[in-house]
Amino acid sequence: MTDRRTFLAALGASTISSRLTALPTLWGGGSAFSAWTWVHGGSATIDLAGWKTRYARLRDAGITGVLVSGGDTAMHVEAAHSQGMALHRWVWTLNRSGDKKVQDEHPEWFSVSREGKSSLTTPPYVGYYKWLCPTRRPVREYLADVMGEVAAIPGVDAVHLDYVRHPDVILPRNLWETYKLVQDHEMAQFDYCYCDVCRERFERETGKDPFTLADAPADVEWRRFRWRMVTETVEAIARATHARGKALSAAVFPTPMIARRLVRQEWDRWPLDLVFPMLYHGFYREPISWIAGATAEGVAALPVSTPLVAGVYLPDLPPPALGEAIRAAREGGAAGVSMFEMGGLTDAHLQVVRSAIG
Ligand SMILES: [Zn+2]
Repeated sequence: MTDRRTFLAALGASTISSRLTALPTLWGGGSAFSAWTWVHGGSATIDLAGWKTRYARLRDAGITGVLVSGGDTAMHVEAAHSQGMALHRWVWTLNRSGDKKVQDEHPEWFSVSREGKSSLTTPPYVGYYKWLCPTRRPVREYLADVMGEVAAIPGVDAVHLDYVRHPDVILPRNLWETYKLVQDHEMAQFDYCYCDVCRERFERETGKDPFTLADAPADVEWRRFRWRMVTETVEAIARATHARGKALSAAVFPTPMIARRLVRQEWDRWPLDLVFPMLYHGFYREPISWIAGATAEGVAALPVSTPLVAGVYLPDLPPPALGEAIRAAREGGAAGVSMFEMGGLTDAHLQVVRSAIG
């Protein structure tokens, strides 16, 4: 909280309205209800002109910002800004499956399950589930440096964090059959982090070793400790990005309660400037109307100064259903909607966006 206030004070902003004035590019022009899309920007065949064309198509539908992973950052900045759109650089955080350097140089930084296995050598569920331990100071410093460098790139409006969490100790309900699991309790091989640094710090704070707890999942202090370790990591990253005059946003699990239970995220306590909960109703076997209530839970938990942009999942939303989802998000008090992802936006979808956000 202190970080955010300091950041806003530096911009001369002390209220919501003055902040939006101070940071118009965050909102792609400060419209009342903003629209965004995640973009896989790593195509080898699309050049600057091609991206300008794609972003112009989105802008025509009223989309005000893009969250872009991969590809050349400067090119995407130029393409997005040429259309008056905000650009958040979308990056993976604690999941470092693509970070060979850290895997080679610091295998000890990777989180360890209640079975004592490293996520580097024994990743849970899928091969790319290789996660850093958020409790370790060098990990926080490393991620703050990495994100600070992203923030320092000219024109980047914000750093957009993804995978800021532990591996799913419980998967969203719709994925249980995929992995042939019945996750009605926290299973040891999916429960993190029990590395030496986590055990030592928790023992110092509480006198308990999480490895020897009779029922680790039932221990409230152990649960809260892990939420807080992720939060402290986000705080370190926020200091680095805000110091460069850039905002920080994140894609997070759908509600504060689900996020805590499934992946140990207490995102309503993070120093973010914009929050993008992934309200992917299909993952939870919920109807579209669920988006309204889930949005409202997030809005109620966040400080009033932190806008919530509702993330929605296009493969589960043919055009008429997308309109319904956007209306549900608005009803729940969202400040905007973000669609996953650009490749799924048909012309019919864009027509729906144009009329639903107006
Ligand atoms: Zn650890």
